[in-house]
Amino acid sequence: MRKKIAAANWKMNLTFQQGEKLLDEILGAGIPLAPHQEVVFAVPFPYLIMSRSEVEEEMNYFISSQNCSQHKSGAYTGEVSAEMLHSVGVPYCVIGHSERREYFAESNAILAEKVNRCFENDIIPIFCCGEPLAIREADTQNAFVETQLKESLFHLSAEQAARLVIAYEPIWAIGTGKTASTAQAQEMHAHLRSVLAAKFGDAVADVIPILYGGSVKAANAVELFASPDVDGGLVGGASLNAVEFTAIIRALA
Ligand code: PEP
Repeated sequence: MRKKIAAANWKMNLTFQQGEKLLDEILGAGIPLAPHQEVVFAVPFPYLIMSRSEVEEEMNYFISSQNCSQHKSGAYTGEVSAEMLHSVGVPYCVIGHSERREYFAESNAILAEKVNRCFENDIIPIFCCGEPLAIREADTQNAFVETQLKESLFHLSAEQAARLVIAYEPIWAIGTGKTASTAQAQEMHAHLRSVLAAKFGDAVADVIPILYGGSVKAANAVELFASPDVDGGLVGGASLNAVEFTAIIRALA
């Protein structure tokens, strides 16, 4: 059975103390997860070790970093390598968030390297793709996201691809309060799965969770997650609120 995932992306928000309190509140809700359900917290680098020790007693609750370097090691001041993340027990890493692509000029080629670093270090990439508003308005979003997948993921083996998590995040819906309609999300997720199937085979495409991201909240999560190809969400703003995010976790059921 394909995994269903509620992933929180804290971005550059919360102090250490606020983050600890938020995790305590969410974990304190004691929401039991089925074997195929997971909750992932993508927290800032300095909070990874604290967050790992908070979640490690909980079944199917995990942490993630929000980024890693495309380089293996060396003179890259301020960067964090996938090897370092692995050494502190980080199992997931968000790769290619649109904010990284836009503000830090991360190209599809750089992201392909980051994906490689993750796999070399036994870290599952949560690979983000998605189109800006102008592309959606021109109705060329399918080709746009297909290129993102091709240029960053198509060099992988089928075994590696089967371990991926994909997050479809239309840029026009991130942090804007605008959500893709359930029909728009389902249509794109089905397209992404068909692109993955054409490259890696149906069996591989069938096990890759494809999360939706873009103003997911308690009020729309149930409907979005009910679509056959929407396997959960990558959640920004609403993941900073325990009441909202616990409702989103419950929406996986
Ligand atoms: C995100 O940053 O991944 C995101 C989807 O943000 P928001 O939920 O705030 O739109």
